[in-house]
Amino acid sequence: MDKLIHGTAADGTVRVLAAITTDTTAEAIRRHGTSPTASAALGRLMTGALLLGSTLKNDDRLTTRIECAGPIGGVTAEANAAGEVRGFVKEPLAEVPLKPNGKFDVSGIVGEGMLHVIREAGVKIGMKHEPYVGSVPITSGEIAEDLAYYLAKSEQIPSAVLLGVLLNNREPFVAASGGVLVQMMPGANDHIITMIEDTIIHAPHITEAIREGAGTEDLVKLALGVIDYEILYEKPVSFKCSCSNERALKTIASLGRDEIKSIIEHDGGATMHCGYCNESFVVSGDDLRQMLVQL
Ligand code: ZN
Repeated sequence: MDKLIHGTAADGTVRVLAAITTDTTAEAIRRHGTSPTASAALGRLMTGALLLGSTLKNDDRLTTRIECAGPIGGVTAEANAAGEVRGFVKEPLAEVPLKPNGKFDVSGIVGEGMLHVIREAGVKIGMKHEPYVGSVPITSGEIAEDLAYYLAKSEQIPSAVLLGVLLNNREPFVAASGGVLVQMMPGANDHIITMIEDTIIHAPHITEAIREGAGTEDLVKLALGVIDYEILYEKPVSFKCSCSNERALKTIASLGRDEIKSIIEHDGGATMHCGYCNESFVVSGDDLRQMLVQL
């Protein structure tokens, strides 16, 4: 089961989060049928959204959105406080050649563009708050570096972000997926920061570690080295979408009587598609006529 842990180190001046998202990324790939490089981009951004969203409160949600000129066209991932994440890419079948070193060319499939991070409060209970939106240009395209740049630039939190997706040739196609986020809070001293930077530079790649059986706490150790830490909590994470048949019906009902009559007349029924999870909901002509009676 995928999970995320949240810890602190150096008297609370360092915040550390680690997530294993192997099943979560596999589910996203299964739903969207993404090409290998698009799968890597989607898995990385979904893991990043979970890490950035880990401090969300009950009804908050965080969306990371890449709008870009590369073949993938765009990547979106949304996470909530419960550890649920959903995401999609604009062009699932887009693909680019591997880099000379054999790695996925995520920056090549992303290209130039913008990264937007949207924090919304009180979503489920229907409270209306202005969402907080931070945007930065894509500087790397490898996603982890872009999220680190966003955190430093837009939220003024110096951060190290490690994200990785390792694929294999057989279903469910994901051998390992996960990430680590280390944040320097106010008061973090330069010595500690240098130690962590040095540890991360020399650390083995996280997907190799996960494939060999590393858990979330092993990922924390991989980033912090000899520095002591304390785990505050852990929670399960998974791919989960908020769409449902009931929501599809509500959306159609909100169109109003005239529009519903027109759908019955011209199309017989309606199919609602959820882009986040690639699920379709068929609403029959009888459902629509029933709806008209109730409206
Ligand atoms: Zn959905």
